[in-house]
Amino acid sequence: MHKINQKKILSTNIESKQVPEIELYFPKFKRKIENELTQEEICVQCHGCCMYVTVPLDPPDNEDTIQMYVWYLYHKNIEIYLDLYDQWQILMKTPCENLLPNGYCAIYENRPKICREYDPTSCSRTGKDYKVLFKSPEAFLKYIKKKTKK
Ligand code: SF4
Ligand code: SF4
Repeated sequence: MHKINQKKILSTNIESKQVPEIELYFPKFKRKIENELTQEEICVQCHGCCMYVTVPLDPPDNEDTIQMYVWYLYHKNIEIYLDLYDQWQILMKTPCENLLPNGYCAIYENRPKICREYDPTSCSRTGKDYKVLFKSPEAFLKYIKKKTKK
């Protein structure tokens, strides 16, 4: 009978649960270079908007919702922000399965409506698209505390 090495099993399980942090990246080019690139060439090098999903949230105006936000933010690769139209959004940083290693879309001709309608001239690469952004429960709770004091 084999002896079970519990220490080894424990460390293997912990390692298998580690998920890498995803950083969203929206490249900036020198103006001269950018002027020479087509929008398609820029998008292929960027592909920033293929790296996440956002879903609208109810505003955090009661304790239950605040606690839900805290729970969301305890998860890796989750952020929450208030957009420029005062809509709260959850941001899930996870790449689309159709994104190819070369930056192209594997289903380009049949990509979803939201991908077709995304405007590259006013996208996340062109500037700040949120009022406030939270990456941790602590930062979010600090913001709520400050807001409720007013
Ligand atoms: S639309 Fe904007 S964010 Fe999306 S890939 Fe193109 S440049 Fe990047
Ligand atoms: S379907 Fe294509 S364009 Fe849309 S997010 Fe996925 S890779 Fe990007």
